[in-house]
Amino acid sequence: MASLSEETKKNLTSQLVKLGDMLGDGLQHEPGGKWISREYNKICRALGLTPARPRANNSQLINEHMAKRITEVVCRECSGHLKQTRSGSMRAKCEACGAVFRLLTVSRRKKGRTS
Ligand SMILES: [Zn+2]
Repeated sequence: MASLSEETKKNLTSQLVKLGDMLGDGLQHEPGGKWISREYNKICRALGLTPARPRANNSQLINEHMAKRITEVVCRECSGHLKQTRSGSMRAKCEACGAVFRLLTVSRRKKGRTS
């Protein structure tokens, strides 16, 4: 791996953050937006990073799991209805008492704990 100057690294990193935000917004799916994911992967490689899975896809997966979990689980404190705290979050908040519960555990080290 060729070493980059600190300044180049800084520039690339800030570009990466910007592109990551755009990917998070799904702009790469817009007409003419393909350059975003292309550029993102290019910068990742330049920095010696593995391109991350697009965040949007990951959130979508979590949201799908969460949508199912909140129909199965109720608040442990008051049996109230739970609602996902925000998109992409694995936690849900009780609408009645405000208690927060983690409903999903996604870990790459421990398998088989997500259901
Ligand atoms: Zn509750």
